[in-house]
Amino acid sequence: MIIDHDIAGRLNLKDPTKTAAIRKKWISQFRKRFRKLKGRINRFLLDSDKSLAINSVYQFDSDPEKVKEFLAWLQQQIDLIIFDNVTNPNLMWQNVYISQAYEKGVQKAKQEIQRQAEVTALLLLLRFDSTVSEMTQPFSQGFNFINQPIYSDVARMSYSKNFSALQGVTGELQKQISRILFDGMQTEKSTTEIAKLINDRVDKIGLSRSKLIANTETVLAFNLAKITETELMAKKINVPAKVEWITKGDERVRTSHAYRNRKIYSTKRARTLLGEPNCRCKVVPYFKKLDSPEARRERSQARKQGLKLVL
Ligand SMILES: [Zn+2]
Repeated sequence: MIIDHDIAGRLNLKDPTKTAAIRKKWISQFRKRFRKLKGRINRFLLDSDKSLAINSVYQFDSDPEKVKEFLAWLQQQIDLIIFDNVTNPNLMWQNVYISQAYEKGVQKAKQEIQRQAEVTALLLLLRFDSTVSEMTQPFSQGFNFINQPIYSDVARMSYSKNFSALQGVTGELQKQISRILFDGMQTEKSTTEIAKLINDRVDKIGLSRSKLIANTETVLAFNLAKITETELMAKKINVPAKVEWITKGDERVRTSHAYRNRKIYSTKRARTLLGEPNCRCKVVPYFKKLDSPEARRERSQARKQGLKLVL
């Protein structure tokens, strides 16, 4: 069984989960929003336009009240620019990318299961079960995965988790900015210097940690959807729910993941292994019935090759 191929049959390791477009769109939203935040901060601190700034050039000097005032203003800006003033995780703008990743995972798993079923004995099992063939129908347009209870639960969990993660990022950003302000006050830094330091934190903490969330969580949502599909199918045909782990196969793969490459895991175990920061690996539905000695040999060879790159 050859599984690491795209629909046209080409070996494709460029982007195992093929979620680059989703990640890119999510990250570009972060970029836009944090850039806007920096712009507001700069205007507040440096602009001579009095309608925007509390005073023309914001002087923190030795007045801690000014710092507090600024931090309260900053909180409002973060709520507005980063969160659209949303407090309910289910209504957060970034959910669209998370659900796109889930949909993509469902679609991909259905394709992979169907492809395996078409060429193998699994087809025989499926023929007698109309509900299964229904499940392996190609992903149709207008299929609203979020209305399926099994997916709405996982998606909502992911919405909450990522909402909190972003709150964690902005919380840390505020903490570091407050440190810069108090330190700036003590060391009598100019407002320009302080603004520069704050801008740097917005990039290094705000944007770069948010990017990490987008990269990690898109791939995770994609893989979790595939696991759910695999489990549904495994239950239908009464076989253990298993997946094969596939890395990107380049030298950037972490050693621990290179060891997992092309190995078979129970879906339960795979769930605990997925979601490491910036992981690009994917899982593919695996049915033991369809395995062959050749496929096993191919997997072990691929694993050795992958290990050579990272050891
Ligand atoms: Zn990985």
